Formats: sequence, C-alpha cells, structure tokens
Amino acid sequence: MPDFDVIVVGAGNAALAAANSAREEGAERVVVLEKAPEPERGGNTYFSGGLLRIAFGAPRALERLLPDVEDRLPGFFDNVEPYTEEDFRSDLRRVTADRADPALARILIENSYETICWMHETAGIPMEAAVTLAGIRVGNRVKFQKGAIVRARQEGVGLSRHWFARTEANGIEIRYGTGALALVRDRRGRVAGVEARTSSGIEELSARAVVLACGGFEANAEWRARYLGAPWDHAKVRGTAHNQGDGLRMALEAGALARGQWSGRHSTPISNEWPDFADRKRTDKSNRLSYPFGVMLNRSGRRFVDEGEDLGLYTYAKYGGEILRQPGSLAWQIFDQKTMHLLEPRYRTSDPITADTLAELVGQLEIDDRRQALRTLEAYNEAACDPAGFDPTSLDGLATAGIDPPKSNWALRLDDPPFAAYSATGGITFTFGGLAIDERARVLGTDWRPIPGLYTCGEMVGGLFHFNYPGGTGLVSGAVFGRIAGRSAARDDGAA
Ligand SMILES: Cc1cc2nc3c(=O)[nH]c(=O)nc-3n(C[C@H](O)[C@H](O)[C@H](O)COP(=O)(O)OP(=O)(O)OC[C@H]3O[C@@H](n4cnc5c(N)ncnc54)[C@H](O)[C@@H]3O)c2cc1C
Repeated sequence: MPDFDVIVVGAGNAALAAANSAREEGAERVVVLEKAPEPERGGNTYFSGGLLRIAFGAPRALERLLPDVEDRLPGFFDNVEPYTEEDFRSDLRRVTADRADPALARILIENSYETICWMHETAGIPMEAAVTLAGIRVGNRVKFQKGAIVRARQEGVGLSRHWFARTEANGIEIRYGTGALALVRDRRGRVAGVEARTSSGIEELSARAVVLACGGFEANAEWRARYLGAPWDHAKVRGTAHNQGDGLRMALEAGALARGQWSGRHSTPISNEWPDFADRKRTDKSNRLSYPFGVMLNRSGRRFVDEGEDLGLYTYAKYGGEILRQPGSLAWQIFDQKTMHLLEPRYRTSDPITADTLAELVGQLEIDDRRQALRTLEAYNEAACDPAGFDPTSLDGLATAGIDPPKSNWALRLDDPPFAAYSATGGITFTFGGLAIDERARVLGTDWRPIPGLYTCGEMVGGLFHFNYPGGTGLVSGAVFGRIAGRSAARDDGAA
C-alpha cells in the first residue's frame, strides 16, 4: 500500500485547490509538499492581487460571491456589466493572438464562475469587489473593467491564508521545507511517488497519484536566460523565490510533453526601486499600471509603446517586457494634474519626482538624452487632444495624430503642472511555457498519451497564455485546473 492516495507538490492556489478537491472526492490520505519553509509558504498566490476574472451573465450572479457588496458600494449591480463566456473567450483570443488552446480555454471559461463559487462556498474564501485594482471612480460611482470585478478579500494574502486554513481543517497534511526533486515511476511506467529533499535528507514518498502544482521557472535566472533570452536573466521577480522550474524539469525528465510558449512570460511595469525579489510585506504593491493616463519615456528620451493601446488589464502583462528591453531596463511614467487622481493607490509606495515645467522634470530624471526627452514630450503635446470626451473607464478614442508610436486612447496633453514622474522597470510574474494536459488534467507524454498517475495545474499548464494575458486569469486557471486535477487524481484507480 502506498504512503498516500494523492501527493500534491506545491502549496499555492492551484495546489490547495487540487488537494481539497481530491479530499472532497474521497481521497483520504492527501499530503501537500511545500518546498518553502512555513514563513515563506504559498507561492505567487500569496503575492497576488487576488483578482479573479470570471464569466457571468446577469450582474446579480455576483451576489453569490458578494452578498453584502451594496452596503459599501450602493448601486453596485447597476454599475456592473455582464461578462459572458463569449466576452471572456474573445478577450483571451485577442490578447493571445488566437493562440490560446481552444480546448483548455473552453474548460477555463465554462468553469470559471462555478469554480470561484466553489472556492467561496466550500473553502470559505471571502470575496470583495476589486475596487482598487480594476475599478475607477466616476463621481460617486465605481465603474469596473468588464470581467475583472471580484477578488479575494485581502488579495493574495487573504486567499492564501484561507486556503491553508481550509486545507488543515480538511485533515490534509502539509509538509513544509519539503521540495520534490524527482518523480518515482514503477515498472509499468506509472508515476508512483516523488523523491523529496527535506531538512533531514532525501526521502521517497509513494502515492497512487501525484499532482504537480509547483509553478513555473520565473525565479530561475538560468532558465530565464535559456528560454526567455537576454535581458530576462536580470528581471526583478514579482513573486516567490521558490518557483525554479522544478516541477517542469521533473516532468520533462519523466517523458512529459512540453506545450505552449516557452519564450513567453507575464511581466508588468513595476517600480524600479523594488528589490530583486518581492518582499512579503508589500506583495504586489510594486505595480505601476496607470501608464494609460500618461506617457512613458526611456533613457534615450523616447516613447516606445502605445500607452493607450487598450485598457490597462489587456496591456500590462506585455508592457513589463517592453520596458525591460529598453536601455538600462528603465522607463519613466509621466503624468500631470489632470490624471494624477486616477493613479492606482499602489503608486503611493513611491515618492514621485515632481516639477512645475516639463523641462525641469526631465532635468531631474535618469535619462541619457534629456534634450530628446523634452522634444518627445513637446511633440506628444502637439499631437495630443483636448480633455473633452476623456473617459478613463473605456476606450475613449482620444488618439494622437502623426506621431510614432501613437497613443490610441486617453491622449491628453501634459499641460497641467505640477508634473510627476515615477520610475518603472519590467518585473517578471510567471512563465507561460508548461506541460500538455488533457481535459482531466492528466499530463501527456511525448507519445501524446497520458502518463499514468501524473496530473498538473496552475502555472505548470502550457498552452493557455501566449504573448499576453488578460488580468485576473492566472488564479482562476489555477483553481479550475487544480480542482479538476485533484478530482482526477482522487479517482485514479492506479491502473497502468
Ligand atoms: C505580484 C503578483 C500579482 C499577481 N496578481 C494576480 C491577480 O491579481 N490575479 C491573478 O489571477 N493572478 C495574479 N498573479 C498570478 C498568480 O499569482 C499566479 O498565476 C498563481 O498564483 C499561480 O498559482 P500556482 O498555484 O500555479 O503557483 P504558486 O502560487 O506560485 O505556487 C507554487 C508553489 O509550489 C512550491 N514549489 C516550487 N517548487 C517546489 C518543489 N520542488 N517542491 C515542492 N513545492 C514547490 C512553491 O513554494 C509554491 O508553494 C499575480 C502574481 C504575482 C507574482
């Protein structure tokens, strides 16, 4: 008899969804192996903003998740637009240039609402409206970006804490400081356990099924250089230091099929003042995502992206990479008083550089060609628009004329001092390359057949995200495929 019914490797959102789902499905002996010591537990999930992109028809469907929301936000349901499965599908297709695997996308989207309700109702994870992340105040109303309305209360910190509490309450053992090193296979080729490194040495644990939920390779500089290329080896890491690609390596060594964009990653503009790895107190407060309401200059004094190409949640995951590729991996985000009130609260974790004229502002910035910077801002101002028709909550069409790159929306002149500049660099969040799975979250081998006994979920799933990513999808993907992986692992009868 094996030591466990199900071994889950990792302790983030995907892993704990899998572990609790396996338990719910009847697996009695479930163990969670967490490589991190207890004070560092929880993976990227802990650092996340907790935003959950889900498809729903009538706004009142959100009442299941947010029963008291109108106490704090009167008229909430009248201000929310439906986000249908078709909306979700079309956003995913658009931002991934139609490369998201349609079968995985269908599973993700069709299960998004029910799975988040499952987390809320059976795992007791409290939710709230994502006001500071995805809402914009217009008068006394808060308008949300479509689909990005709900988040875990207290963001990733709350999500992680509640998952751990539920896991312990469900009688699931959690072994901290236990990093899986390799998959153990029996003579039939079934995955029959893992070899793990613990504080007392190397240990072998056997199980009927193994769920790998131990993240991508975003924290591994060598793999970043190998798969993402320069300059990704020096990117700052927005989340955990523990996601080193261990699960991907183990699975590939056991004959798993690689899938998805291995050169792709989620990376956002973050403050350049941040350390190389995120700190657990400030979690995701490094983000600098209000660039649609200003302009970005590189050290050569030039703009380099269309800051207003789309709503922020559809460009932020690729613009981190654009900044990283600029000279010195540095950009300056510049705003004036017309939009300063629209900056996300996270900007308060930095003191901006301010000045009464653009020339004085540029004079204070770490920019190699300041004359060019001033010329760029003047040319932008000539090409920009009057504020009439400005609408920060939707694509307002206020576009520049005759400059390259253009700014396609929210292109207001910078003419209302004092001006403010915030530094930004590209911070890596997670990697897109992963493993091929089927609809039961079984890992496929290079012969395109499931590897018996092996399941995966979360960041380790390949094929969903490509080039870019719609904000709030990572946690929902982790929960959806984690729940499926746990259920499948619990039902695994151990046959070859
Ligand atoms: C700053 C930040 C903000 C984010 N905000 C959002 C958001 O608002 N909404 C959203 O949807 N997504 C967000 N994301 C992305 C989201 O956090 C991830 O997609 C999601 O948490 C991944 O979940 P996971 O369970 O796959 O991995 P993780 O949560 O990273 O968990 C991986 C686990 O595996 C463990 N591990 C690693 N190697 C081993 C090993 N060898 N043995 C045992 N354990 C191992 C790690 O310690 C960790 O516990 C954010 C990410 C970051 C970093």
